[in-house]
Amino acid sequence: MALLVLKFGGTSVGSLERIEAVARRVCTLQQMGHRLVVVVSAMSGETNRLLGLARGLDLDASPEEMDVLLATGEQVTIGLLAIALRKLGCAARSFTGEQAGIHTDASHAKARILTIDEQPLQQCLATGQVAVVAGFQGRGPDGRITTLGRGGSDTTAVALAAALKADECQIFTDVDGVYTTDPRIEPKARRLPRITFEEMLELASLGAKVLQIRSVEFAGKYRVPLRVLSSFDEGEGTLITYGEPSMESPLVSGIAFSRQEASLTILGVPDKPSVAAQILGPISDANIDVDMIVQNTLGDGTADFTFTVNREEFRRARTLLEQVADELGADCVQTNETMAKVSIVGLGMWNHPGVARTMFECLGREGINMQLIATSEIKISVAIDEKYLELAVRALHDAFGLAQGADVSGMNNN
Ligand code: ADP
Ligand code: ASP
Ligand code: MG
Repeated sequence: MALLVLKFGGTSVGSLERIEAVARRVCTLQQMGHRLVVVVSAMSGETNRLLGLARGLDLDASPEEMDVLLATGEQVTIGLLAIALRKLGCAARSFTGEQAGIHTDASHAKARILTIDEQPLQQCLATGQVAVVAGFQGRGPDGRITTLGRGGSDTTAVALAAALKADECQIFTDVDGVYTTDPRIEPKARRLPRITFEEMLELASLGAKVLQIRSVEFAGKYRVPLRVLSSFDEGEGTLITYGEPSMESPLVSGIAFSRQEASLTILGVPDKPSVAAQILGPISDANIDVDMIVQNTLGDGTADFTFTVNREEFRRARTLLEQVADELGADCVQTNETMAKVSIVGLGMWNHPGVARTMFECLGREGINMQLIATSEIKISVAIDEKYLELAVRALHDAFGLAQGADVSGMNNN
């Protein structure tokens, strides 16, 4: 009999009917003798609704109080699912993040799980009950409620699977696995029966929201057997593999994107060592993640310095950068709040320089201007105007032969 951690995302628990369907699935697994921890998200749309309420009062609301508010979404779902399970005669009890022993750091809105006291859940499982746990939330060092960032219930599930040494962590969502790109943008996208941990990590970090990046990091660190499946259909989904090459090892295995980008440029800063640290120091002190960075030296002793941040953090970053611009005597700060990032990912690309050329030619043919470029051994990312995002994703998906039925082996991207 297996110990399984199952996670159901927002759409999968989006109505009472869906919650009853989840309860039936869980009940069947319990009757088969499996020990089950079920992590749930807020019902679909609920977290955004709560965010909207707070924004109606204050655009810069305190992160501590935002977490108190946002964590209520998941609490509704654990109550409802536990009620639905009990109605079916399935012994179950609910746990908030804190009750499930999840301790985090103090970074409200994007807290990291530091430790898990697995005793409460072990005790629950030992009595034959299903443990229904609120995703996305934990207890900070000062005892306050924290949340783990958007999509954080994935991370709750994988972290619990690691702590409990579960046989498998199954992420049930509204698509039946990990695809070559978001199937909602490119209907020709193909499900990958397996994907390497490294590729999944890269796709998630570059915006493929099917798994939150931190859940993949946890999975890699503790080698958690991890699978993405549909909560609506049967099927084997996508298995995340460790240390095995991809089935096909294509040059490019997937395309990820993020709409949530904003860029900030500080123009005319003195071109001297340490200036980059002076610009980014306050941003980093404010716990704002900087993504892509470009510095252009102008030859007159000055430079322009551009970087991108998540749109959620744009307003705070701009305020800090304007202060830095004053201190450095820079010309001005320019911003673009409607950027997007599109990335190609593949373990096979690291020694194939032709991949970059294929990508840039493809975007050029579509008339899409790249504003920043970042590369690593297994990815190339470009920042573009958001209005071209869908076109870019589809064109690149075609250019790299990723579509259903495409002959990947015959591709020559050199
Ligand atoms: P949940 O509410 O279950 O956590 P999410 O909306 O967070 O679900 O994640 C699932 C969504 O991720 C899919 O509906 C799909 O639009 C999107 N997605 C983005 N990239 C991919 C990809 N490569 N493969 C599958 N889904 C993807
Ligand atoms: N409810 C949270 C969100 O919408 C967490 C999650 O769904 O994983 O981001
Ligand atoms: Mg999600």
